[in-house]
Amino acid sequence: MNAKVWLVGAGPGDPELLTLKAVRALREAAVVMIDDLVNVAVLEHCPTARVIAVGKRGGCRSTPQAFIHRLMLRYARQGLCVVRLKGGDPCIFGRGGEEAQWLRERGVEVELVNGITAGLAGATQCDISLTLRGVARGVTLVTAHTQDDSQLNWQALAQSGTTLVIYMGVAKLSEIREQLLAGGMPARTPVAMIENASLPHQRECRSDLAAMEDDARDFELKSPAILVIGAVAAAAPAHPLWERDVPASATDQWTHG
Ligand code: SAH
Repeated sequence: MNAKVWLVGAGPGDPELLTLKAVRALREAAVVMIDDLVNVAVLEHCPTARVIAVGKRGGCRSTPQAFIHRLMLRYARQGLCVVRLKGGDPCIFGRGGEEAQWLRERGVEVELVNGITAGLAGATQCDISLTLRGVARGVTLVTAHTQDDSQLNWQALAQSGTTLVIYMGVAKLSEIREQLLAGGMPARTPVAMIENASLPHQRECRSDLAAMEDDARDFELKSPAILVIGAVAAAAPAHPLWERDVPASATDQWTHG
């Protein structure tokens, strides 16, 4: 039997945001290795599997990556169906790419299964459209956290005209604010900070670039949270296209054509 590992996204938390393919992989799994950010409610789909917690939360006690690699390899070589279950999407700040490469180099078949990444889910749960015609023509997903102290090109981000979705940013609010201001982003740019997106205890804090650090402190914002920065993050974004005087005939055409 060929050794195989599924690298599966568990989505942001709400178990209903799991994909059907993730459910199929979980049903087939003999071993499931889960990260901290995975909502354990999704384990209802694999009641007989052996579940191993291999969390790696920033700054906390964590399982070394090399150990996780070896454990996946060992079970896969025993011919067991292994599911590596990660919060959100496995390839958005999830090491999915690294783990897939490491396993493939050792002859293990790997199948990646998308999950809904926290940034997309958080925005949608707060009625924020990350792209919006005439307001934001793109989205940039970025992490504020680096292992090697390398610097992001904040000026380029500040001037990109895209909505910024920042992961792992709670401990870096001061730096994010300063760098974006220095990079030329207007102080009044709307910011939404969304904690525990899609879970029953989700909380959201609306602010702007200048005030985000103070507002997050008053709000006691905690990880996991994502930051959405850009005009679309305003409670009711001004929309130049909606304000245009559109003839009724044109509207009819859009509605019916
Ligand atoms: N692979 C994951 C991201 C892992 S990095 C994904 O695609 O979502 C961990 C970061 O993701 C956290 O620090 C936080 O910024 C974000 N995150 C994960 N789950 C979250 C949630 N339910 N609500 C808000 N942010 C979340």
